[in-house]
Amino acid sequence: MKVIKTKSELADCLQQFRNQQKTIGFVPTMGALHEGHLSLVAKSTESCDITVVSIFVNPTQFNDKNDLANYPRCVEKDCALLEKAGCNVVFTPEVEEMYPEPDTRQFSFGNLDKVMEGEHRPGHFNGVAQIVSKLFDAVKPDKAFFGLKDFQQVAIIKAMVKQLNMKLEIVPCPIIREADGLAKSSRNMLLEPQYRAIAPKIHQTLAEAAKKRDCTPEQLCQWITSTIDATQLLKTEYVQIVNFDTLMPVEKLTEAEKPIICIAVWAGKIRLIDNFVL
Ligand code: AMP
Repeated sequence: MKVIKTKSELADCLQQFRNQQKTIGFVPTMGALHEGHLSLVAKSTESCDITVVSIFVNPTQFNDKNDLANYPRCVEKDCALLEKAGCNVVFTPEVEEMYPEPDTRQFSFGNLDKVMEGEHRPGHFNGVAQIVSKLFDAVKPDKAFFGLKDFQQVAIIKAMVKQLNMKLEIVPCPIIREADGLAKSSRNMLLEPQYRAIAPKIHQTLAEAAKKRDCTPEQLCQWITSTIDATQLLKTEYVQIVNFDTLMPVEKLTEAEKPIICIAVWAGKIRLIDNFVL
């Protein structure tokens, strides 16, 4: 497994693989890898000849300075996990390598970035589009793998690929959870014990909510909020039920409306997101 820090070295290395007609799968990450990330690596190694993983904590997508400063970083451990998982190339650039000058591009995604994470984390998806477009340019993958844990991000990336006319396939992959239902996340390791103990309540509540169909979406959202917030330790930031494709609010909880519940919850100082397809 090669560990590469510059775009030019990466380009040279990947061109050699392309010359051998090898297909390239790409998994962008911010590191502190867990089984969620490794499931994307497994999908890539299954369907592509070469798997490239990037580890880069992208400053432009953090709307909260503390979150950026506290984001867990453990590149050596990550590389050991990636080597075991069959990754071929790890790209670990410094900030100056990805942003030799400030990126002033402003993306526009219509409704997709106005709701939920877009509404509550101003600038977040613009930063995501900036870095992912730069990484796609650097890697030029045939396929890129993204987790549905960040459901809205997948919709944004698909829209960006269309807008920029990029020739690659975006492959959405299922959410990997802890045994108690908590969606795996690099931020979970920052949870203090009492918050870690209560955090599975988020998934449990969404799973319970999925059984309730004889109410309106608003009523269901209210029930979810009050059930989660009744724990005292968890505080719901938003919960919305939207159409899986358009991210517009659904009017009814019928299958035809393709509803998905999306939620963000504060567990002390740590913000967790999750979702559940109805
Ligand atoms: P991150 O390092 O948080 O930027 O995540 C990198 C990629 O891993 C993104 O496509 C995430 O959606 C994906 N990912 C993170 N957690 C999970 C999970 N629990 N299950 C599946 N994919 C995940």
